[in-house]
Amino acid sequence: MLEADGVVKRYQTGGETLTALKGIDLAIEPGEFLSVMGPSGSGKSTLLNLLGLLDTPTEGVVTLDGTDVTTFSDRERTDARKRTIGFVFQNFYLISTLTAVENVEVPRLLDRDPETRARARDLLQRVGLGDRLDHRPDQLSGGQKQRVAIARALVNEPRVVLADEPTGNLDRATGRTVLEQFREVCGEGVAVVAVTHDNVVTEYTDRDVTLVDGELFEGPFREVDRKMR
Ligand code: ADP
Ligand code: ADP
Repeated sequence: MLEADGVVKRYQTGGETLTALKGIDLAIEPGEFLSVMGPSGSGKSTLLNLLGLLDTPTEGVVTLDGTDVTTFSDRERTDARKRTIGFVFQNFYLISTLTAVENVEVPRLLDRDPETRARARDLLQRVGLGDRLDHRPDQLSGGQKQRVAIARALVNEPRVVLADEPTGNLDRATGRTVLEQFREVCGEGVAVVAVTHDNVVTEYTDRDVTLVDGELFEGPFREVDRKMR
């Protein structure tokens, strides 16, 4: 559904060229929960930005349902992103002055759709926060904040949720509640891609891949690392 084919990403810094991704092939299927692991600097954020249609590759293509999105204009890419991708971050990035339900509405504010409030409420109910609709972020625990962020990521009915260290700021037990939430999201046919250092994540995923110095390997980091030694 969302695919990287032969994706190369180079960055020019000063006179130097750095190859952050060295020919990545990766196909994400509907409803799949995939983790992307790898050491710092291995290219995880770069890959997430390309899959999230935030950036374009130097070589190779990113396709969405078979359509090459690398030829899209910025406007077309933004539209495709909004229709297809939800984002979840390590630090939640909720707006502190808005309630939970208002935070979930944020991606749709410009649409002025009267259905949005009902949809936001419904999503918060689904992530187990039906009794926290009008709480502000400082009145919520870390796990609750991340579940608000998951509800917000789902408000535009995406095909894929891209999560950057979604459990990075949570304790073990709370992290598990968030991972269980992602499994439910996958059960509804939405793919979840999580960049993570957290081995617990792999207990919940369908598939794990590891980036090492811009190259992609099948398996979680601990296995890939062992094979390389
Ligand atoms: P990048 O954003 O370029 O991927 P890193 O991969 O180094 O940067 O780390 C991403 C975030 O994850 C950083 O905020 C970092 O503090 C945090 N982090 C790094 N290592 C771990 C870890 N073992 N567990 C949880 N979070 C980590
Ligand atoms: P990770 O998320 O695994 O820590 P990144 O994708 O952030 O890795 O970075 C991969 C490599 O690309 C690193 O060497 C990093 O310094 C480099 N890099 C990332 N973004 C940029 C940029 N905007 N300009 C130049 N180099 C970058």
